Amino acid sequence: MKRRREGCAVGIDLGTTYSCVAVWQEQHYRVEIIHNDQGNRTTPSFVAFTENQRLIGDAAKNQAAANPRNTVFDAKRLLGRKFSDPIVQDDILLWPFKVTAGVDDKPMITVKYKDQEKKLYAEEVSSMVLVKMREIAETYLESTVKNAVVTVPAYFSDSQRKATMDAGVIAGLNVMRVMNEPTAAAIAYGLDKRTDYGGERNIFVFDLGGGTFDVSLLTIKGTVFQIKATAGNTHLGGEDFDNRMVNYFVQEFKRKNRLDISGNPKALRSLRTACERAKRTLSFQVVATIEVDALFQCIDFSSSINRAKFEEMNMDFFNECVKIVESCLIDAKMDKSRVDDVVLVGGSSRIPKVQQLLQDFFQGKELCNSINPDEAVAYGAAVQAALLSEDVKNVPKLVLQDITPLSLGRELFGGIMDVVIPRNTCIPVKKTKRYITTRDNQSYDLIEIYEGERTRASDNNLIGSFHLYGIPPAPRGSDLSEVCFAIDENGILTISAKNNASGSSDAIQEAENYHIEDMKFLRKAKVVNELDYFIYKMRNALKKKDINIKLTSLEIKKIELSIAVATNLIDENNQQVEIDVLEDHLKRLNNSMEHIIAKTV
Ligand code: ADP
Ligand code: MG
Repeated sequence: MKRRREGCAVGIDLGTTYSCVAVWQEQHYRVEIIHNDQGNRTTPSFVAFTENQRLIGDAAKNQAAANPRNTVFDAKRLLGRKFSDPIVQDDILLWPFKVTAGVDDKPMITVKYKDQEKKLYAEEVSSMVLVKMREIAETYLESTVKNAVVTVPAYFSDSQRKATMDAGVIAGLNVMRVMNEPTAAAIAYGLDKRTDYGGERNIFVFDLGGGTFDVSLLTIKGTVFQIKATAGNTHLGGEDFDNRMVNYFVQEFKRKNRLDISGNPKALRSLRTACERAKRTLSFQVVATIEVDALFQCIDFSSSINRAKFEEMNMDFFNECVKIVESCLIDAKMDKSRVDDVVLVGGSSRIPKVQQLLQDFFQGKELCNSINPDEAVAYGAAVQAALLSEDVKNVPKLVLQDITPLSLGRELFGGIMDVVIPRNTCIPVKKTKRYITTRDNQSYDLIEIYEGERTRASDNNLIGSFHLYGIPPAPRGSDLSEVCFAIDENGILTISAKNNASGSSDAIQEAENYHIEDMKFLRKAKVVNELDYFIYKMRNALKKKDINIKLTSLEIKKIELSIAVATNLIDENNQQVEIDVLEDHLKRLNNSMEHIIAKTV
C-alpha cells in the first residue's frame, strides 16, 4: 500500500554493528547517503548511558572503553530471540553489559542511567538507534521524517522481523516495509549497472557484515528483480573475527605479563577496538600493529599480527561462508557457471581471503565491488521507500519479487513437521490446508506453528500455537480444520484456522507468545521516545534561533520551559507514571509548541 508522505521517506540499514540512512532525491534522480553529525556516512549501532545523558552512535562508541558496562551494542543479535537461546547465552559471555531473562524469557539489558538501574528490551535499544538515524536524516533534509523502510537480514525469522517492526513503532516511525538486506543491495547494484543490461542476468549477492552473513541469488530482467533463493547465518560476521583476535592477544598478554585481562571489561573493550582496527588494516596490508596504552594495570601493550595468522584463526568461519553460498545455489537449482555477477556487500566482504575463496568457488570469476559495501543496503532501502511513497513520481520503476527464507508449517500427530509454505516461496503468499481428525469425536485441534527445515517439528523454531475448539462430534477421518498461512510483503506470518461444519474459527493473536507480550510496554516506550524526540526538536529550535528562525524572548522562555517539563516527565517515568498521563502531556506539549515546530522542522 502506498503511503502519503509526511516529510521524506528514508531507507535505514539497521546493522548489527553500523547503521546507515539514505534518501531518494527526486530532483537529482539519485540516492543520497546521509552523513551524521561527525561527517560519517555510517553510524555505530551503539547506545550508551551515563550519569547525566544518553549517547547514541559515534559518541557512544567513543566512550565505550571508559564505560563498558553501560554501553550497549549488538542489540540486533537479541531481537526476536529468547534469553535461553544458546546463541544468546554464548553472546552474553562476551558482552560487558548485563543481560537477564525478563517476562516470557525475553532478554533484558540492564544499565545504570542517571544513577538508577534501567532495564531495556533489545527493541528499545534498536529504537534508539533508529531515532538517531531519523535525526541524522531530519537535520540533513531540514524536514520531518516519519516514514521509513528498514532492512533486515534475509535470513531473519518471523519473530526477528516482528521485533524489528516493534523497534520502529517505539521509535515513532511508520515502518513502510521491512526489506531484506541482500535484496536492497541488489537494487543498488542493478541501478548502477542498468545501462549495461540486455536480457536476463543472474546476480549473486554476498553480504558479510559485522554480525550476520546473508546471501541471495536473484535474476534481473528489465525492471523485474526476482529473488530465487536465499541462505545465511544470523550469527556470523566481523565481530566473530574480532573475538578470535581478542582471544589471541589475551593469551599473548598472559604469556608476556602473567596477567589475565579476560575478566576486565575495560581492558577487553580497548583491546577489541584495537583488534577491529588491525583487522581492517589487514585487508590492505600484510601486517598490522596493535598498540594499547595502559591496557591493564598500567601496562602498555604492543604487538603485531600478520594476515596469514588472521586467516588461519578464522578459516573455519570463512569456509562456512562458502558452504552457505553453495547451499543457496543448490536450493535455486542453479549451477555456479550460470551466475553472471557476484556482488560484494558488507564491511567484512573486503577481507582478501574471503574474496579469494569466493572467487575460487566461482571458478576465477571477477567479483563486483563497484558499489560501496557499507552503503548499498541503505541505498536500496531508499529506493524502495520512494517507490512506496505515492507522491514521489520521479523514481526508477522496479518490481521486486522477494521470497521467504524458512519453511513454515505445523506439527502433525506424531511430531512430524508438515510444511505448508516451503522456503524460497515468493511473497506475499497465502496457502490453505485441510486437516482431518485423528480420533473419534475429536473436539479441538491444537495448532502449533513452526519454521525451519527439520523433519521433526520440535527441532524447528516454535512460532506460536493456539487451539481451535468446537469441532462437532464425528468419527475419525472427518473434517477437523482448515488452516490458512499468509505471509505479507514484510515476510511476516499470520495464521488463522476454521472448522467448516461448526463455523468456529480462531487465529494467533498479535500479542501472543513471541511478539511483545505487553502492549502497554510498547505504548510506554513509544511515548518516552516521543518525549525525548520532542526535547531534541526544541533544542534544535533554540540552536537555530539566530540563523534561520526568529523567536521572541517569550517564545524562547516557552521552549525552555517545555524542555524542562518533558525532561521531568521522562525522569518521572522511572517512577511509574501512568501511560495515559504521559501521552496526555506529550499531546499538550506538541500542541502548545506547534507553531514553533512548524517554523523549525
Ligand atoms: P553490519 O551491517 O552487520 O553492521 P557492516 O556491513 O556495516 O555490518 O560491516 C561492519 C563490519 O565490517 C565490522 O565488523 C567491521 O569491522 C568490518 N569491516 C569494515 N571494513 C573492513 C575491512 N576493510 N576489512 C575487514 N573488515 C572490515
Ligand atoms: Mg549490514
